Amino acid sequence: MNPAVVQLAYLFSCILFIAGFMQLSRPKTAKRGNLLGASGMLLAIVVTLLDKQIVSFEIILVGLLVGTALGIFTALTTPMTAMPQMVGLLNGFGGAASALVAGAALFEILSLGNPLTLQFRIATAASSLIGTLTLFGSLVAAGKLQGLIKESPIRYKGEQCIKLLVLFVCLFLGSMLTTRPDTLWAYWALLGVSALLGVLLTAPIGGADMPVVICLMNSYSGLAGAATGFVLSNTALIIAGSLVGASGIILTQIMCKAMNRSLANVLLGGFGELKEDTALAGTIYAGRVKSTDPEEVAMLLEAASRVVLAPGYGLAVAQAQYAVRDLYNYLTSLGVEVDFAIHPVAGRMPGHMSVLLAEVDIPYEKLKEIDEINPEFEQVDVAIVVGANDVVNPLANTDPNSPIAGMPILEVYKAKTVVVIKRSLSPGFAGVPNPLFAYDNTLMLFADAKQALQAVLASLKELKA
Ligand code: NDP
Repeated sequence: MNPAVVQLAYLFSCILFIAGFMQLSRPKTAKRGNLLGASGMLLAIVVTLLDKQIVSFEIILVGLLVGTALGIFTALTTPMTAMPQMVGLLNGFGGAASALVAGAALFEILSLGNPLTLQFRIATAASSLIGTLTLFGSLVAAGKLQGLIKESPIRYKGEQCIKLLVLFVCLFLGSMLTTRPDTLWAYWALLGVSALLGVLLTAPIGGADMPVVICLMNSYSGLAGAATGFVLSNTALIIAGSLVGASGIILTQIMCKAMNRSLANVLLGGFGELKEDTALAGTIYAGRVKSTDPEEVAMLLEAASRVVLAPGYGLAVAQAQYAVRDLYNYLTSLGVEVDFAIHPVAGRMPGHMSVLLAEVDIPYEKLKEIDEINPEFEQVDVAIVVGANDVVNPLANTDPNSPIAGMPILEVYKAKTVVVIKRSLSPGFAGVPNPLFAYDNTLMLFADAKQALQAVLASLKELKA
């Protein structure tokens, strides 16, 4: 194929990536953005296949079939609640693919006896290091979220020194590979030590901080892809990898901000110990928790003119989004102003609540972010917390020793009445009790979120009949 045509096609696919990214920044245009990005990727793949005689088309076809079958199977069988682990694994596979392709290119050129450029050598070392680290770091992160590995931080004496030492060994092996590329043992050793570094970096981080780790691994997988782009001198891969690397780091920063933590604190702090504090729970709740029933909640809603729903992980577990939609539609038809308060780390993956609510066609303008909704809670008659816990926990503001200290929260407690729908007084992901449940203006509706919302709607309809 004419090299100019190839470069033009790559340029066009990069324009599609960037246009797609810009559209992804708003929920309304996100679907189109996704489509644009995917079209750019399809174009880049087709051009690469037509341009290079990489491997035979038969092998590519087998790879496509196996990959598609595996992808469809895992997508269909993975529950929504396990999406973070799934995303974590996919990041890891992206890193592994980059490292393997760079390694294959190295072996091919060495076997042909061709000279290696400095760019090729540096990029191969970078891709092998970052790609392997991403794979193993992501495996540990996914294992922790799936409960296969201890969720609490795995700490040991001299931890930071050991990590630093392993990092230096990685850099040393990388420089060996760069300066003396015929030293193939350095390549294999680099893969092994980078794998160890991935495990050592992720193991001391607690389960509660895994969302940040997953975003960071996403960024690393992009960097590994960009490095492989330099190995292959493939402009489209360099740009696509850089975009993933940059967007992953921006998402990481957003997550850190949402938890009021610095990235260094997340990576080195060993936070996120998931211990249930039963003694504290006893003092906080003792005799102060008031429970309610669907009929009482319906009466509150009948008299309300402004209602805010604050969804959390329990909404996803109960698959209550349809019940939420039905209640939203009915209240709106009664002339009640209804909004949704969306916390950036509600649920178990970035954007979890927005995805669930978009699935049932809740208008995007009704999804209010934390900075927008918090100043409005004082004017809210009823705030309904649907399966959320940590993201509405006032302890984040009042207890500097709490694992969630400083995390910005949805200030639902400022509403005239707060109704919390959950099944028990059990803590949320961070394992800390929630004083909100014992506030004077809080009523607890102990039930599965879906059943509770359906019962509230039925009672409300009866009242209005
Ligand atoms: P939480 O995990 O704090 O609380 C969820 C609550 O939902 C639980 O207390 C549980 O109480 C309740 N619940 C579970 N099942 C049901 C059900 N069927 N019906 C009703 N309630 C139910 O969730 P939040 O969304 O408030 O906070 C998210 C937490 O997860 C944060 O700590 C965040 O850091 C962390 N995290 C976030 C990720 C992200 O990217 N968004 C990824 C990984 C972790 P009960 O058992 O009593 O019903």
